[in-house]
Amino acid sequence: MQYVSTRGQAAPQSFSQILLGGLAPDGGLYLPVEYPRISGAELDDWRTLSYADLALEVLKKFATDIPEEDLKAIVHKTYTADVYRNARTGEDTAQITPLRVLEEKDGGKLILQALSNGPTLAFKDMAMQLLGNLFEYALAKQHAELNIFGATSGDTGSAAEYAMRGKKGIRVFMLSPHKKMSAFQTAQMFSLQDPNIFNIAVEGVFDDCQDMVKAVSNDLEFKARQKIGTVNSINWARVVAQVVYYIRGYLSATTGNEQKVSFTVPSGNFGNICAGHIARMMGVPIDRLVVATNENDVLDEFFRTGIYRVRKSAETYHTTSPSMDISKASNFERFVYDLLDRDAERVRALFKKVETHGGFDLSGNPGSDGDEFKKVAQYGFLSGKSTHADRVQTIRDVHAKYGVTIDTHTADGVKVARQHVKPGVPMIVLETALPAKFNETIKEALGHDAERPAGFENIEALPQRFDVMPADVVQVKAFIARHTGL
Ligand SMILES: *Cc1c(COP(=O)(O)O)cnc(C)c1O
Repeated sequence: MQYVSTRGQAAPQSFSQILLGGLAPDGGLYLPVEYPRISGAELDDWRTLSYADLALEVLKKFATDIPEEDLKAIVHKTYTADVYRNARTGEDTAQITPLRVLEEKDGGKLILQALSNGPTLAFKDMAMQLLGNLFEYALAKQHAELNIFGATSGDTGSAAEYAMRGKKGIRVFMLSPHKKMSAFQTAQMFSLQDPNIFNIAVEGVFDDCQDMVKAVSNDLEFKARQKIGTVNSINWARVVAQVVYYIRGYLSATTGNEQKVSFTVPSGNFGNICAGHIARMMGVPIDRLVVATNENDVLDEFFRTGIYRVRKSAETYHTTSPSMDISKASNFERFVYDLLDRDAERVRALFKKVETHGGFDLSGNPGSDGDEFKKVAQYGFLSGKSTHADRVQTIRDVHAKYGVTIDTHTADGVKVARQHVKPGVPMIVLETALPAKFNETIKEALGHDAERPAGFENIEALPQRFDVMPADVVQVKAFIARHTGL
């Protein structure tokens, strides 16, 4: 299987060649030359597989340059009941992403799929844990090392650190704004004592951290010498890992392949739901893919109007579902490529326009850049938006009716899903975090604290290991060089 760039000007690459990288050299995102198909017979066979074995079947179709026995060892090391042990009471950890039916009425069914039972209590563990093991495997083969450098305001950084901790050949340097993360998130990251994990608390805000990451990525000489890499959401292997739980969710909610299901996905960078789109393109009987946004509604606007308009920093709101606070959706280009029938030249022009004019318009109105909006429904996409008041109300309602506490991001999903439930088609809402991570809003909604999974009770009291630094890229570079010895 070869991979091509959405902008059409990069040489085709194998899975292993793009595994450790990010953007293609032409600024596009990698996608397979064509999506592998899943037959009905395969789906039948997969119904009884363990999560790890299902992941192997899916990965085999994409990572064709890694021997099957190696892939098998990697998925069996990744998808274990021990790694995904933070299931709620009554959930079976061995299922990795268990389903819970919330509601069945008028023939419509609302189901939660738990993706947040991994080490950091958020869905990013689903892909990042696999990435950690794939990276270690690939680096060992090449006798190479990699220094991951990134900035985080919470979820991504901690998922990356928990995936890479103790891994041979890998170090993680993670910037975060000093004293700006929640006590729980800070404790999660800073309590890691592994010598290959470096937490750098920057005296500044998240944007300062991100500016330093950009400055380093523009310094090609430093990047090459220090073997700097990233693990952001455009990484192709992360997307593939996410395809697996859409298939698992489908198989768990149905008994035969003539049945369809829909998914609602709390969305930010479009990474999660992009995997749903790919599962659907591969032939999984998915009816609707519903994009749920918070007040940062770039994607909802596109799926309602065909107009993609990225936001400026001043227009990007800090909300109580912070992992969805984005101004542009970094994986969206993959969907647009398919929507435009893989016309890389047009994709390149549209995303150039994003840089120069802040967006593009596919509504088909006079003066627009195209009329492909009319094809969006063919791909199953719908959308909706949820606000702080909706979130609080939904958390309250789900707790009162079903005795389940959901986190703020999942609440955005449930709010929007309820507008799109159809009789006879189960609606699966992806649970993207456990409520303990966003306790402030749970307290506001329910008047009491969210339950904490075992082992997290006193996390804030654990010893913390981090370095405080000014927002000065020269000092950050010196810190990295000192610890890599390169
Ligand atoms: C990252 C994240 C999201 C958004 O996922 P995307 O892939 O960026 O669309 C939603 N909820 C939680 C809890 C997250 O951590």
